[in-house]
Amino acid sequence: MLHAGQIPDPHVGARAVPIYQTTSYVFENTEEAAHLFELKQYGNIYSRISNPTTAVFEERMASLENATGAVAVASGMAAQFGTLMTLLSPGDHIVASSQLYGGTLTQLAHTFKKLSVDVSFVDPSETLNWESAITPKTKLLFVEIIGNPSGAIPDLEGLAALAKSKRMPLIVDSTFATPYLCRPIDWGATIVTHSATKFIGGHGSSIGGVVVDSGDFDFSRYATIAEASPSYHGLRFFDTFGHYAFMMKLRAETVRDTGACISPMNSFLLLQGLETLSLRMDRHVANAQAIAAYLEAHPKVNRVHYAGLESHPHFERAKKYLPKGPGAVMAFEINPGATDPRQAGKKFIEGLQLFSHLANIGDAKSLVIHPGSTTHQQLSDEEMVAAGITPSTIRLSVGLETLEDLIWDLDQALSAI
Ligand SMILES: *Cc1c(COP(=O)(O)O)cnc(C)c1O
Repeated sequence: MLHAGQIPDPHVGARAVPIYQTTSYVFENTEEAAHLFELKQYGNIYSRISNPTTAVFEERMASLENATGAVAVASGMAAQFGTLMTLLSPGDHIVASSQLYGGTLTQLAHTFKKLSVDVSFVDPSETLNWESAITPKTKLLFVEIIGNPSGAIPDLEGLAALAKSKRMPLIVDSTFATPYLCRPIDWGATIVTHSATKFIGGHGSSIGGVVVDSGDFDFSRYATIAEASPSYHGLRFFDTFGHYAFMMKLRAETVRDTGACISPMNSFLLLQGLETLSLRMDRHVANAQAIAAYLEAHPKVNRVHYAGLESHPHFERAKKYLPKGPGAVMAFEINPGATDPRQAGKKFIEGLQLFSHLANIGDAKSLVIHPGSTTHQQLSDEEMVAAGITPSTIRLSVGLETLEDLIWDLDQALSAI
């Protein structure tokens, strides 16, 4: 969190990571310039492709995730988009969890459809569901480590074994866990994506994303990585870069061509967040666990979806994969017996004083949202049910405030219903 990927600046001795706010880099000579452009030499050309401040963030994330390398990009959406764009071709099929971040569901179901990529969504809980959805055209599996907002935890080991037996990569969005709570690569995941916007940055100040690669997957027979690339004079990424092939292709082709780069300033702010990640996550989790227990016991709350509660179907799995706690995001339903559930939800959110009503998670401050009218609003009723959301579902992202203050706030807002 504090040292990986950085040595103090050799020119002036700066201990903090300098912000290299530059678009481009002077070449030593014409030969070096040509080698850099041909990917024969590693170095910086232009900050759309790489940047020294961002490189520290990438190295640190790779180190925290026990990975071979990482590529940082503009946002979590760009991390997923870049990963799939690098791996897939028109006509391919993928299997994804039905309980994903709302924006991800839309990206997969609509934007990738335009690129002729077909997606089957499955209930992530049982590996058998994934296996049944695999077709001869399936190229990868995509899951979130902690489902949103159901709190579902997939059987990572089972999924990794399935992916391995079918020779396809397992992609895990680990935004809700961060590498402090879970390292999916240690359980067999191929590639991990993050919205660094959330707990990694940790202060609600910057949008960013990162793709982390185990370097373990054999891409030698995976067409998009192994075959000659027409945009690099027939370069074969797997033959040339081996374990780094996916990351090189992601950086040198997909990020280059989509332009979804991260600014050096945001990389710096995300590094500031990483420095205190473990301290913050311990507090986030402790507050969340206590609030989940408080809500579960409250007469106006119907059901709390948090895998740290024994009542959650994946309590045991959470202990296995997230032994330090299943994050700080939870969902619950306002008791529909008493009043119109949608109205009750509205009144509850409007009554809160400390929790901010906004579309984000993973801020130091506590946050609340009504997914049915916001993050998951674009979904059909059917998709909504598959995603585990009802009209009265409320989602909390528990922050770092004093626990007693948070409980006070929830208590007074529930009393007002
Ligand atoms: C927020 C989020 C994303 C998208 O990330 P952005 O940084 O907002 O683009 C993807 N997955 C999960 C689980 C998220 O919470």
